[in-house]
Amino acid sequence: MPQSVERYRHLKQNDPEIYDLIQKQAVYEASTLKMIASESFASFSVMEACGSPLTNKYCEGYPGARYYEGYEYVDVIENLAIERGKKLFGAEHVNVQPYSGSPANQAVYRAILKPGDKIMGMPVPDGGHLTHGWKVNFSGRDYVQVPYGPSPATGRFDMTQIRETAKSERPKMIWVGATAYPHTIEYAQFAEIANEIDAYLVADIAHINAIIIAGVHPDPVPFCDIISSTSHKMLRGPRAGFLLSKIEDRYQTQYHPDSKLNLAKRVDRAVFPGLQGGPHMHIIAAMAVAFRDAMTPEFKEYGKQIVKNAKALAAGLLARGYDLAGGGTDTHLLILDFRKKEFTGKDAAQALAKSGIISNFNMVPGDHRSPFVTSGVRLGTPSLTAMGMKEAEMEMVAGWIDRVCQNIANIDAVAPTIRAEIADLCKKFVIPGIS
Ligand SMILES: *Cc1c(COP(=O)(O)O)cnc(C)c1O
Repeated sequence: MPQSVERYRHLKQNDPEIYDLIQKQAVYEASTLKMIASESFASFSVMEACGSPLTNKYCEGYPGARYYEGYEYVDVIENLAIERGKKLFGAEHVNVQPYSGSPANQAVYRAILKPGDKIMGMPVPDGGHLTHGWKVNFSGRDYVQVPYGPSPATGRFDMTQIRETAKSERPKMIWVGATAYPHTIEYAQFAEIANEIDAYLVADIAHINAIIIAGVHPDPVPFCDIISSTSHKMLRGPRAGFLLSKIEDRYQTQYHPDSKLNLAKRVDRAVFPGLQGGPHMHIIAAMAVAFRDAMTPEFKEYGKQIVKNAKALAAGLLARGYDLAGGGTDTHLLILDFRKKEFTGKDAAQALAKSGIISNFNMVPGDHRSPFVTSGVRLGTPSLTAMGMKEAEMEMVAGWIDRVCQNIANIDAVAPTIRAEIADLCKKFVIPGIS
């Protein structure tokens, strides 16, 4: 890996132990199939911005209103990130300071609710995120979750049921977004429900932002008060979060301490000084780079291909007799449904990893097994798509997955062969940020 050797020469000399582990991880990622649905590959440009001297800079506050001097250049950088974000998503307001997706979601609560308020969100076993009101998370402890999720029978949202729950429980805010929902989310339908009960509608697009940008998934921006996202995952930016919002608050929450401010200002205040201190300027610079990359035709192609690849993989698995949650996918991910099999999701995920296919075990709708083993495996296509793989490779991947699942009981006998075949395939592709 000549690129990496040149790039990390200081680290290699100064801390060979950490250098060596980074190289090992890079080689591992370059010779296996990274199918964790929340991962992809950041570019060298993004990583150079992350690794720049901006990491040293303190500039609490926002552009034009800093609490530290020496902000001439960082103000320009943050404004560029904001302007690019607005253009990319067509948003009225953008905040690029959240340290990651979870702190971004925490800021959403602080901007519009008070502790004890009811919110509607998906429990983790149904595909929701921890921060959507799950019991062990701050969101489940400080707020009351009204749960909803895909119907166990169809694996899809039952909008009639969701409307009934919303009308009887009257939550103040509805989260719409997931970590493990393979189907299209109809924001317009959620917006109708939110409007009927005067609730805020907040989309969490951490998992699906690139396919929204590519126009192969509905756009939440016209329908939502706030939209939360990460900039890593399929967007291929730095590890961080950002928030999009409307400028005006349509409900003007009276009890909120900042109720005289508009929604955009409340979002900003919730992030800083509400939750965070100094912004991570190296990350914000890298986010600006990623937003710029995401405006290119190549990125739109990547977004479209992610979905084509997921559909091709689903078709390959269905043709080999496997069940998929909800019957397939129209996004970047699919969930293999092993409820009828002897082995668990965890057994399968471990056997796949031994063979060079990296995924995670996952609950499926109507799962009878515990969350510690589950009956499902979640597979995503963003990383393979970023490498340049297409439908033909997805057919090969389906074949390898089938061979692993047929040999779970004697996986140690077959895994080395499969792993070598996969490493051979990977050699044909350029891996962004690694090779
Ligand atoms: C990944 C994710 C988050 C949180 O992001 P972190 O950066 O891991 O904190 C929030 N919501 C959804 C839907 C996610 O998929």
